[in-house]
Amino acid sequence: MLSLGNSEGTSGKDVSGEIIIVKSMEEYDKLSTDQVKDKIVFFNYPFSQSFVETFRGYSDAAKYRVTAASLTAKKGGKFAIVRSLSSAFDDVPHTGGMRYEDKILKIPAIAIGSTTADELEALLKMQKVTAKLNSNCGMKGEKLSHSVIGEITGKKDQSVIVVGGHLDSWDVGEGAHDDGAGIVQSIEVLRTFKKLGLKNNHIIRVVCFANEENGVKGGIQYGKTAKEKNEKHLFAIESDAGGFAPRGIALEMDEEKRKQIKSWTGLFLPYGVYNFEGKYSGTDIYPLHDMGVPTAELVPDSQRYFDIHHTEEDTFEKVNRRELLLGATTMTQIIYMIDKNW
Ligand SMILES: [Zn+2]
Repeated sequence: MLSLGNSEGTSGKDVSGEIIIVKSMEEYDKLSTDQVKDKIVFFNYPFSQSFVETFRGYSDAAKYRVTAASLTAKKGGKFAIVRSLSSAFDDVPHTGGMRYEDKILKIPAIAIGSTTADELEALLKMQKVTAKLNSNCGMKGEKLSHSVIGEITGKKDQSVIVVGGHLDSWDVGEGAHDDGAGIVQSIEVLRTFKKLGLKNNHIIRVVCFANEENGVKGGIQYGKTAKEKNEKHLFAIESDAGGFAPRGIALEMDEEKRKQIKSWTGLFLPYGVYNFEGKYSGTDIYPLHDMGVPTAELVPDSQRYFDIHHTEEDTFEKVNRRELLLGATTMTQIIYMIDKNW
């Protein structure tokens, strides 16, 4: 098992009880307080394999990870077990952010791998099962941290184009795809401009955002600072979906700008980049988007990302150098075009 991000532990004490299983929110809602009291609730909602884009399967199942603890606490349960948000058929548990509701007792929430979840469900059909949890995890308060920023000045004006990813990762694994890849690709954009001697019109700024995973703190602070300094941002793009072969760029902006970028499709096709239909952008640049800045996100192939996302398996050797660089190339291409045309 693996504790979820933000979860409290058991302060070194054993907490045990009988496990009850639910397969959906609807099923849980039907349970009375009496049925849940002093139990351990196992939310076994499977990651849907039917979406071609795996991010949709992730969004579909995410509410279980985020809300299981407080839902269980409200009905007097002892702790919550959640089936990992995983597209893999293995036994690796996936962590990730969860949230406690205000004024609700903070009980632990843990994730288990897919095969353990299946086995536990099969066992529960035959007999009563009890579980014992002893965990020393917990939130120890906040510490100051920093986003890391580098830029090359523009020859025309002071307006800014941002390219970024997030520096932090969950404590298991190395965070190689989430989001080491995005950091390397963003730095690579600047390096390419310098190496090729491209003279950019606007400031091109790499932002390695601090603490995306637990509250988007770096992204929110960046937005605030940009506002305070009255900096004009032309465009921001993030890479935070894994370092896999790029397939497209999601565009969150007005129709006119979308149309213009889509008219450049021919420049991207040689890299296998064809999908400009997504209308969302990265978490860290949301504060910029809310200030009216046109934003975008690199869209890599998503088939393997949720096999390893937020696990000890998200390691350096899982990143393919060629795929990683194609993503950097794609971001460099769009930034070059926007720098020339906006
Ligand atoms: Zn990420």
